[in-house]
Amino acid sequence: MKIAENLKQLKKEIPEKVSLVAVSKTKSVESIQEAYNAGQRDFGENKVQEMVQKWEALPRDIQWHMIGHVQRNKVKYMAPFVHLIHGVDTQKLLLEIEKQAAKNDRVINCLLQVHIAEESSKFGFEPNEVAAVLKQNQSLSHVNIIGLMGMATLTDDKEQIKREFQQLKSLFDELFASKPNPVLSMGMSGDYPLAIATGSNMIRVGSLIFGARNY
Ligand SMILES: *Cc1c(COP(=O)(O)O)cnc(C)c1O
Repeated sequence: MKIAENLKQLKKEIPEKVSLVAVSKTKSVESIQEAYNAGQRDFGENKVQEMVQKWEALPRDIQWHMIGHVQRNKVKYMAPFVHLIHGVDTQKLLLEIEKQAAKNDRVINCLLQVHIAEESSKFGFEPNEVAAVLKQNQSLSHVNIIGLMGMATLTDDKEQIKREFQQLKSLFDELFASKPNPVLSMGMSGDYPLAIATGSNMIRVGSLIFGARNY
């Protein structure tokens, strides 16, 4: 395993102000522990049940990021500990997070997922909906919407990826410029350099750290 080595290499390539979420979905507790021992503290999962099991098995100072699509009936399982929910894509989900965060006496940080890719997707708000969603949820006391998350089209066309990231960045600047420490989560193994060049301050990288996934 060269997890520690991969992490070190990646860290060298990304500016200090860009946070790295190590995407550990499908990977073992041992692999995560190895990354932890190399100093990594932020990990991303896309299934609630899997994240809960890993949370139970691993050190408590890990910050767990939910990066996948979330079903409302699963929110309660991660509400006690989740650090940041990246994929918030409906009003109903926001209200469920508010409810479960309140039960746990926590404020849960969330990102709104925005649909920027050309591919049609069921997930994510349309860019023109986001301002209204923020306005509508200003008064929630247990949910803190601290930024945006997006995924570019799966394509080799770098210009297209760049255009999509730029679109999300300008929306982010428009809506979050006046907020403290806002988060723009964009960029994965295949496109993180472009994402950082376009203004991302949080990247979600899996296969470059842990190797390819076998589903
Ligand atoms: C799996 C996943 C990633 C990481 O993908 P890699 O290509 O392995 O870096 C990032 N973001 C989301 C939302 C994912 O589901």
